[in-house]
Amino acid sequence: MNLLYHESEDWVDRAACHSVDPEVFFPVSPDGPGAMDVRRAKAVCGRCRVSAECLDWALRAGEADGVWGGTTPEERRYLRRDLLRAG
Ligand code: SF4
Repeated sequence: MNLLYHESEDWVDRAACHSVDPEVFFPVSPDGPGAMDVRRAKAVCGRCRVSAECLDWALRAGEADGVWGGTTPEERRYLRRDLLRAG
């Protein structure tokens, strides 16, 4: 499960990643062999009922590693930048 440190969040119980190897969500690199893990993680997030809550949490927490809410760290950096620009 990808949410070891966020068990106080009630949406965590409905996470689709409960039964998935956490290493899939935290590849060493998003390139090379890690790209397959990123695709696998995003596929799990794509069928997760709480992906919006997860992404919101990751953005608010400034989570710098791993796939959360179907986004990579780089994608979240762009999202945060866009949100800041939008005010
Ligand atoms: S969106 Fe992805 S990382 Fe977040 S709870 Fe769902 S499956 Fe886990």
